[in-house]
Amino acid sequence: MTDSAVVASPAAHVAELIDGKAMAATIRGELRATVQTMLVNGTRPGLAVALIGEDPASAVYVGGKIKACKEIGIQSIEARLPATTTTAEVLALIDTWNADDSVDGILVQLPLPRGLDTQAIVARISPEKDVDGFGADNLGRLAQGKPRLVACTPWGVMEMLKRWGQPHGWTPAGKRAVVIGRSITVGRPMALLLLGADATVTICHSRTADLESAVRQAELVVAAAGQRHLVKGEWIQEGTVVIDVGIHRGEDGKLTGDVDFAPASQRARAITPVPGGVGPMTIAMLMANTVSACRQRRGLGV
Ligand code: NAD
Repeated sequence: MTDSAVVASPAAHVAELIDGKAMAATIRGELRATVQTMLVNGTRPGLAVALIGEDPASAVYVGGKIKACKEIGIQSIEARLPATTTTAEVLALIDTWNADDSVDGILVQLPLPRGLDTQAIVARISPEKDVDGFGADNLGRLAQGKPRLVACTPWGVMEMLKRWGQPHGWTPAGKRAVVIGRSITVGRPMALLLLGADATVTICHSRTADLESAVRQAELVVAAAGQRHLVKGEWIQEGTVVIDVGIHRGEDGKLTGDVDFAPASQRARAITPVPGGVGPMTIAMLMANTVSACRQRRGLGV
């Protein structure tokens, strides 16, 4: 059964579905219009993507990113390198892209094959071209409350909350928000963004003693732990907004999230499905970051 089928079932209370797929399509349309205008003025944003090794999930993610570039009018450059590539070789490639004026954004698809120095590779990307927002400069700016390029997944979550929340009169301001996960790529920047939006933020992680009671207090839950169905439906307070970042592929090939969707959707005010929730938003925000990096680098205003 898909998530959307569960939402349509005739139970007592059923959460509103926050449709990330539709929102992402809208954002891509908006970006396409922006890029069309930029093209008229002779500017085409460019994104360079490195895919290293044979991880099938990474290949799928990179494929989706290249496809989105084509749809929007962003020039994409793709480097597919074998798992035997050395850190020095990846650093040399990044140096080339850092120096290439037609490249506005640089993305190295993570996770990298074992043996490669992820930290050194991420740190080598010029902060102006760091469209994943994982580098110290961009994370530091976010921590200072002056974000420039923000990690795509948490930024996508903020955009979903904004686009769903505005017509419902809902904002994160003043809400008790629980972020589950503290990774550099999702949990940590997510918490900083919510803090910047005036939520009262609790960050839970693998050493949190009582996750259940934290979630029971929450008016907003963002689950990014990478543990299938970690968040039980009965933990969700009525009226809570639930954002599920987790992605797990079952043996049957079906995708599920960190939240036990069916029971949670009987209690939540609104919930994101997996698939069709946060995932498409991540790609849309990567495109937005690339356009924004281009405008900033070329002095076109943000
Ligand atoms: P990660 O493994 O780097 O971090 C997981 C975090 O969750 C850690 O901080 C850990 O402390 C915490 N955690 C683990 N078990 C926990 C538990 N039992 N209770 C509380 N906290 C716990 O993972 P990540 O890269 O942050 O990704 C998290 C999930 O989000 C994964 O399922 C990943 O596939 C998914 N993801 C989805 C998208 C998307 O576009 N939808 C993007 C990135 C990641």
